Amino acid sequence: MPVIDPCDNCGTPTPIYRLAAVILDSHMARICPRCQAAEQARIDLPYAPRTDQRAIQPSTSRDAW
Ligand SMILES: [Zn+2]
Repeated sequence: MPVIDPCDNCGTPTPIYRLAAVILDSHMARICPRCQAAEQARIDLPYAPRTDQRAIQPSTSRDAW
């Protein structure tokens, strides 16, 4: 029996395996496929590069020796 959770955007009860974890208006949200299609302009995928997170910083200490 599938677990049903409401879509964080429209509230439609949706099986959780169909909900997509996304960043909606800079908050984590799980949304149904319909909202994914409808709200693409507001959605950032969590695995997209984020400008506020620097990647691995180059090690400067290693140059000292
Ligand atoms: Zn929805």
